[in-house]
Amino acid sequence: MRYRVRHEGELSDFIDSSIGILIGDTLSPEFWIIFFGDFDIPVTDDDIRLAGIAISHLEQADDLLLLALSPRGLQYKMDLFYAYCGNNFLIINAIKSLIGYHGPAPVYLPKFHFNGEDVEIVDVYTYVGMAFRSGPFNAFSSVLQDLFVNKTKKASKVAHAVLHIESMIGALPVQEGKILYMGCVDPHLIYGCEVAIDASKAHMDQVIGVQLAFFRRLLGLSKTSIRVAIYTETGIIPVQFRWLNLALRALAYFLSQPADTFIRAALNESIALESAGKRSWFRGLKTVINSLCPDYKLPNELIRVSRSSYLLQLRKEPQENGNLKYHISCMRHYLSEIQNPRHRKALTRLITGDHSLAVVRLTWTDNHRLQVPYEHRLCRFCTKEVETPEHALLQCPYQPLVESRTMDQPAYVAYLASCHASYATLAKWVFEILKIYEGTPLLIPREYLRDSRCTS
Ligand SMILES: [Zn+2]
Repeated sequence: MRYRVRHEGELSDFIDSSIGILIGDTLSPEFWIIFFGDFDIPVTDDDIRLAGIAISHLEQADDLLLLALSPRGLQYKMDLFYAYCGNNFLIINAIKSLIGYHGPAPVYLPKFHFNGEDVEIVDVYTYVGMAFRSGPFNAFSSVLQDLFVNKTKKASKVAHAVLHIESMIGALPVQEGKILYMGCVDPHLIYGCEVAIDASKAHMDQVIGVQLAFFRRLLGLSKTSIRVAIYTETGIIPVQFRWLNLALRALAYFLSQPADTFIRAALNESIALESAGKRSWFRGLKTVINSLCPDYKLPNELIRVSRSSYLLQLRKEPQENGNLKYHISCMRHYLSEIQNPRHRKALTRLITGDHSLAVVRLTWTDNHRLQVPYEHRLCRFCTKEVETPEHALLQCPYQPLVESRTMDQPAYVAYLASCHASYATLAKWVFEILKIYEGTPLLIPREYLRDSRCTS
């Protein structure tokens, strides 16, 4: 945005304003800060002290938070603020002002007022878009519980709204879906995360749940698909690591600030608390690092992942120069190149091990049968080999499958010549093969059926 100042008929040169939020215009908050620059509260014993620096109140443009350690101290600051406003043509709205407290509530709650008008004491108040809960909480994540709940709900609602586009335009292309996610859903999921980094597991699970559900639906994967496929196929970062990344970037910013700034004083205080064995933001950050990156062990989930994703591990990504290169996680070319969404989703499900073939389906729990070991998950058509993607695509002698293999020979040659060009052919083929399999019930060997054991 560009501005010019007019004074008594004279115009100034243009001034560029590139930083700010678009509420009306970018310069208004700056004007407010200049106007409000002479508001001051003398240092009192009721100020919060961080690393020796007294902090009487916080300002974010016209969003003001008065801080005090006692009810009397707070009323004193409210009176000063009221007097300042009276002298500067400002009106305070007592109804829009709120009081919150942190720590145990006193037996009798004191009354607060602006010029005789009562100001309400509330359980939850919002400052700079963050909801804080009043009361005797030990963990900071409990103070912020409403923030997590509100933002997760909002993110989930927006995610549904984005995916609802599909009812109007058909399947949403994955690349565009990712852009919409980053623009509309992600901002809610990361709001305030660098401050609230040490969320409880229950809250974090909800945040992760929104990301997983969105990308599973976008890719056409089921609720039981392996999580890792979401990240390997789209290049999206797991939201808990995105939180950690933003918190570490905030830490780097705090450390770059001069020692006499509030933010640096807050960091120093936080580190001092952690050294004294107490809870603090810095300790929370260390806890999260330890829980997300512990000493490497292979949990059960990883064993499941390695069994379901062997095709993912072998699969490479085509480069501009025609070579193939191994990438752990990126936005895959095939997702944007396959135009038919049903074919694209069939291919995604096949390579991520989220398909309808026996090798995966017979690992699902089912009340009507026992667990079927790998070597007994046989093909429902030839009943000789294990029903794997490679068997279904390349080996099975069942006639309709054989026909689908010979249908597109020129395209198959093109696949060998150039991987990019083959995506659509390959995906169509995968889709056709899976459709043939899905039209016939799974072969469950009799000895694994619960009913057959009863009758035999
Ligand atoms: Zn077969």
